Amino acid sequence: MAVQQNRKTRSKRNMRRSHDALAAVSSTECPNCGELKLPHHVCGACGHYSGREVVSQVDEIDLDEDVA
Ligand SMILES: [Zn+2]
Repeated sequence: MAVQQNRKTRSKRNMRRSHDALAAVSSTECPNCGELKLPHHVCGACGHYSGREVVSQVDEIDLDEDVA
């Protein structure tokens, strides 16, 4: 196992950590419904991508329909 020979200074430690920050998640507005969505992803609100519906959306599921 590699064992460090010399202690890194605060300066060197902080220089290394200067690249560790996470970038903010970018988002674009859905051209169909206006909801914020991830770029190059199907809209989670309306299921549209590139101007057409690729995931069909169900408005409301009636759970009592098949009970009787
Ligand atoms: Zn949408």
